[in-house]
Formats: sequence, structure tokens, C-alpha cells
Amino acid sequence: MPLNLTDFNQFYVINKICGQEKQRHYLEALGRKEFQIYFQPKISGKSQKIASAEVLIRWKRADGELWFPDSFLPILEETGEIEALDYYVYEAAFQWLANRRSAGLKLLPLSLNVSPVHFRKIHTFTKKVLQLIQKYEIPSEYLVFEITETTYIHNIEAVNSMIRFFHEQNIRISMDDFGSGYSSLNTLKDILFDEVKIDKRFLSDDLTEKGKIVLQEIFHLLKRTNKFIVCEGVETKEMVDFLIQEGCDELQGYYYYKPMEMGKFEEYSLYVNNRDFLAGDKVLTFTDLDGRLLAMKPDVTLSVINNTSATEETREKLYYIENVYRE
Ligand code: C2E
Ligand code: CA
Ligand code: CA
Repeated sequence: MPLNLTDFNQFYVINKICGQEKQRHYLEALGRKEFQIYFQPKISGKSQKIASAEVLIRWKRADGELWFPDSFLPILEETGEIEALDYYVYEAAFQWLANRRSAGLKLLPLSLNVSPVHFRKIHTFTKKVLQLIQKYEIPSEYLVFEITETTYIHNIEAVNSMIRFFHEQNIRISMDDFGSGYSSLNTLKDILFDEVKIDKRFLSDDLTEKGKIVLQEIFHLLKRTNKFIVCEGVETKEMVDFLIQEGCDELQGYYYYKPMEMGKFEEYSLYVNNRDFLAGDKVLTFTDLDGRLLAMKPDVTLSVINNTSATEETREKLYYIENVYRE
């Protein structure tokens, strides 16, 4: 006899079954390394250059489909399995930094998300993270851990003791999604966070005059308490202009870059220290005759071509790239 379920119960049961399915797939996928880290650049408000990046997880399924965190993280959080996934992400990020260092490239600070489940066993978490940092010999100034405001509100003591531990290691902590939960502004005076990341919902609607006033006051408060200010969800030029004018330290959002695969991010971060490049510039990358990866703006290729030190073959390649770009 069919079960007589109300709509709500049906929804609940279906959700549970889907959840169990996803959970089973997840364990297999972790073994098959179907999870990939993506990078979303964060841009310095002052220089308009890539200053750092946030690491975000994606599930690249065997059939090629890309799954976004919102479709699988809630289930993994419920079952506690996100714990292993977070370590997987940290290890992949540390490996990336270590590879970059051994290639002689400048390091770039990375922001990493911390799931709320870790606050149930802080000791295990801090020990594990420290082991990974030591294994890959990552300098602490290149790491920022992001903890959401909601997690903080529900675990104030545990979060604070984790922050103290990280501060002892000289690692910075960011309060993610600030303004999305129910924290009282009063808590700002006590928080130990180094950085505050304003939730994207503050910027999601058109910036109204009132919206601007609210942001200005929040900035004022954060500046006076010496917090580094990051805004995420930056999508328009109007937002960029306003945030820069108000002294936002770093900006992150589709206006500049969407989260991207490691390979793509490597191309962008290659020229990160080149004074000529600005965020959002079109860039050409290719390997020169010695196998070195080169990056340049299309309008500077010609001057390189004219550089007498370029070999004949390199010049040919550059002409080719230049022409492809122009088409
Ligand atoms: P989050 O930490 O707030 O990350 C920012 C989210 O905003 C990302 O979504 C990013 O793709 C999206 N975003 C960036 N710029 C814009 C923009 O201009 N407009 C809009 N509308 N959205 C923008 P994503 O990658 O889907 O991640 C969703 C959430 O999943 C993250 O929110 C984070 O809470 C969680 N998450 C992602 N990766 C990890 C991870 O490795 N570990 C843990 N624990 N959580 C993760
Ligand atoms: Ca985040
Ligand atoms: Ca966020």
C-alpha cells in the first residue's frame, strides 16, 4: 500500500534519499579525485591588481558535469563528511603554493573556507591544519582562513580560541558573509578577526542612496577598529567606483573575474607582479623556446617582437599570436 505522505513529508523523504545517493557518490568521487579547487582573484582597491585569491571547491563529475558547492555541501555538512573535503581543499591549495615556490614564482595569499563542523573538535582541526602547513612549508602570511559570521555567532568561544591559535602561528582570519546573519554591531568591538568580508547581499541590489549610507557607516566602524575590508559580489563599475572611494581594501566579484580552474588562474597570476598589468586586462600567454611561460598584453607583443634578443622562432610565434588575437 502506498504511503500516505503529506507534500512536506514527501519532499523530506525525497530529499533524504537524494542526500544518501549524493553521499554515496561523494565517497566514490573523493577516491577518484573528482573534486577540484577553483580560484577567484581578489583585487587590491588601491592598485587594481590581483592581490590574493579565494579557493572554492567544484565537483567535476565523471560525465563532465560541474556541480557547485550549494548542491552538495549542505548534505556533507549534515553528515560531517565535509571535514575530509576541507582538508582535501587545503592540501590542494598548499600543494599549489609549494609548486609555485619551487618554480621560482612569487607566492600569492590564499583564502580558505572553514566549515562549521570543525568547531565541534577544534583541537583535531588545528593539529591537522598545522601538519599540512608544515608538510608543505607554507609561510603563514600567505594564508587566510574564512569563518562565516553565522558560525561565529553560534560558536563564539570556540571560534575565538581557534583565532587565538592561528594568531600564534601568524595566520590571519576573516569573518565571511558579514551582515548576513544576526550579529549585533556591538560584537564588533570584541571580535578578534583581522579581516571582515562584507556579504554580497549588501551589493546585490542597485546601490541605493540609503544602501550607500549603511555601507559607509560600516566601513567607518571597521576602519576605526583596524579591520581589513573585503567586499564580495562586486559586479558593476558603479560598485567598484563607490567601494574604492570608500577605501575598500580588496574587491572580489564577477566584475573582475569569476572563479576559475587552476590552469587559467596560473596564467593570470603569472603576471601578478608585473606593474604593467591591471585586473581584467586581456592577456596572451605562451611558452617561449626555453619552455618558460610568458604572459603579455596584446599591445606589447609588437615591442617584444622588435626586441632583437628574441630568436627568429619566438618572433614567428609572437607574430602568429598577435594575428590570431587581432582576428
Ligand atoms: P562564499 O564563501 O561566500 O564564496 C563566495 C561565493 O560567491 C562563491 O560561490 C562565488 O562563486 C560567488 N561569487 C563570487 N563573485 C560573485 C559575484 O560577483 N556575484 C555573485 N552573485 N556571486 C559571486 P560558490 O563557489 O558557489 O560557493 C558557495 C559557497 O560554498 C561559498 O560561499 C562557501 O560558503 C562554500 N564553499 C565553497 N568552497 C568551499 C570549500 O572548499 N570549503 C567549504 N567549507 N566551503 C566552501
Ligand atoms: Ca568564503
Ligand atoms: Ca562569502
